[in-house]
Amino acid sequence: MRINENYKNLKESYLFSEIAARVEKFKSENPDKKIIRMGIGDVTLPLPQVVVEAGKKAFEEQAFSETFHGYGPEQGYDFLREAIRDYYKTFGVSLHMDEIFVSDGAKSDVGNVLDLFDKDNTVLIPNPVYPVYFDTNVMNGRKIIFAEGNKENNFLPMPSDEVKADIIYLCSPNNPTGAVYTKEQLEAWVKYALKNGSIILFDSAYEAFIQDEKLPRSIFSIEGAEKCAIEFCSLSKTAGFTGVRCGYTVVPEALEFEGMSLRKMWLRRQTTKFNGVSYPVQRAAQAVFSKEGIEQCRKNIAYYMENAKIITATMDKLNISYVGGENSPYVWLKCPGGMTSWEFFDKLLSEAAVVGTPGSGFGTAGEGYFRLTAFSSKEAAKEAMERLEKIF
Ligand code: PLP
Repeated sequence: MRINENYKNLKESYLFSEIAARVEKFKSENPDKKIIRMGIGDVTLPLPQVVVEAGKKAFEEQAFSETFHGYGPEQGYDFLREAIRDYYKTFGVSLHMDEIFVSDGAKSDVGNVLDLFDKDNTVLIPNPVYPVYFDTNVMNGRKIIFAEGNKENNFLPMPSDEVKADIIYLCSPNNPTGAVYTKEQLEAWVKYALKNGSIILFDSAYEAFIQDEKLPRSIFSIEGAEKCAIEFCSLSKTAGFTGVRCGYTVVPEALEFEGMSLRKMWLRRQTTKFNGVSYPVQRAAQAVFSKEGIEQCRKNIAYYMENAKIITATMDKLNISYVGGENSPYVWLKCPGGMTSWEFFDKLLSEAAVVGTPGSGFGTAGEGYFRLTAFSSKEAAKEAMERLEKIF
């Protein structure tokens, strides 16, 4: 028996454990200080009531043989896929039901989709970015190159004809930077992918946070993307489903490589290795897309966006440069005074008892930057920013 040697190439993912260790140490040395956590990437507001009711009702149905549901349809129930299709229509994207695959979240699909691609493909990954793209490709032993996000490109790396990439990851709105690609910028990526025969894996997990209607919420609002892109989305941040688990992936019918339909390959992959999302969760997810559900989710997102405003207003006041926060729950700031990400982390923790996330944890290009998130309570965001003002 031989193991997958590629696992030896994975770097220890020490970011969150290191944060926890430093916070624990601070707590034991300063038992009276109230710590404010502004680093969490998880939602904090409870589920919309209409979603809870739908889930409860569906669970009740499972108690009677007349309404009991066993294994569901392969790609997800029609009622949910119809709701997703209609949701996409609201921002001008028309999808076929066959192109929508319901899943237990974007993370699994983003990782699992690699089953469809040869190990010899070259992968282009933004830096900094959600670490899952990198780690899942290291596990498969693929060659990885980076597209650096920096101050000059507003943390929105663009394609270059000098770089040849087969698999391209784009995350917009981006985690951790909060930067969002414009339509023109995505058009450039689609043009590159079509010209080079590459595929774009587009992660739109934070699309619901986009406030500016001119910014694209889906790669499929770009002409030609149906021939070169797969989109991953999730109800985790849209509707507070991080603990419920439901997402969806769109694989267009027009997506063909080497005479093979990627939609058919993904269907084969999913039906072989995945048995679907539970009926009650799919009913709850359907309720997210109801009129009332959308309104309640928007309200929750508006609450987080108020927090983002509190953060960015403080950054403006303190003359700390940042991106994000306008169309995303993340604010990505430059550590003042040339501090490294961890130096800034330690200063914030020791002098303000505020916890954030060091940017270097999201890739080498994140060094010297810091991520604050809007997923706290308003009171916490306000107090954290008041403390920041005092130390700067
Ligand atoms: N994609 C991005 C960019 C994320 O930041 C996250 C979660 O933080 C996910 C995907 C995971 O989403 P899910 O909870 O649906 O697995």
